[in-house]
Amino acid sequence: MLGDRQGLALLVSLILYYNLYNSSVKRFVFLQGVKEAHYKWGNKGRRGRQSISRGAGCPLHCSRCGVMVSSKSNNMANELILNFHGLGEPPPCTASEEMLYWLRAERFSYLLDQVMDRSPNVEPKISLTFDDGNASDVLLALPELANRGLTASFFICPGRIGRNHYLDEAMIKDLVGAGMSVGSHGMNHQDWRHLDSAGLEVEISVARRMLADIIGQPVTVVSIPFGSYDRRVLRWLAREQWDVIYTVDGGMARDTSKLKPRTTLTASMQDRDDILQELLRAPYLHLRLRRALSRLWKRLR
Ligand SMILES: [Zn+2]
Repeated sequence: MLGDRQGLALLVSLILYYNLYNSSVKRFVFLQGVKEAHYKWGNKGRRGRQSISRGAGCPLHCSRCGVMVSSKSNNMANELILNFHGLGEPPPCTASEEMLYWLRAERFSYLLDQVMDRSPNVEPKISLTFDDGNASDVLLALPELANRGLTASFFICPGRIGRNHYLDEAMIKDLVGAGMSVGSHGMNHQDWRHLDSAGLEVEISVARRMLADIIGQPVTVVSIPFGSYDRRVLRWLAREQWDVIYTVDGGMARDTSKLKPRTTLTASMQDRDDILQELLRAPYLHLRLRRALSRLWKRLR
């Protein structure tokens, strides 16, 4: 019989092998298809074999002639979920570690314009989420979203509602009225891994009921504070039957997955004009493996 450690090592090896095999086979088959399409579409006259490279976003281009040879992505997943926090000037009481997550309003608008510039049917699709329930969700984000006909999900801590610089009940209702989705971010923004059962009951179950009472409809989505979870937290969440559980593990999310990783935008990323293209680009294999192992470790610990 295998011990716990040997079993875990075997499982990790199998996952590594599957990931390596799957990505290399898919990439090979995909590039072959792209090359065939390229030749078929009339570039046979050029000398030698055409090299194919990935342009910004999803379409693929020939690196020599620049022709777009396929609009299909080779991503194995199909959703990039961006995660925002506060916008504009952080309130004076903001802790220094939280300042890192505040974006300037004009950079947020720029990012939304980048999202709008993408063709609606191109994969991966982009979804927008906001954590923490800052007042800037309604004061700054909501008008920008509404002007562009975009929607987003807002994750709110009921224990903070009505406090300085946070959303109050009327603002939350404004979000719902504008067609935005509202989910729970725990009662008081605590690390769920460090709570006992009574604490989890308040943070997850009671918070959900309080939020549902405010918005007058069921709350079906949740984002985990600090993205901190383990086997016990996931078991507790599974009992509650959420439609989607959001983390901040980065990378692409599958449409069909219940546990969805998001990518957090930070202040240090905001001035890069190509940040959206960078996030949409398929990451190197070693980064995909590192993320897969990190997610596996969090689920098992
Ligand atoms: Zn948070």
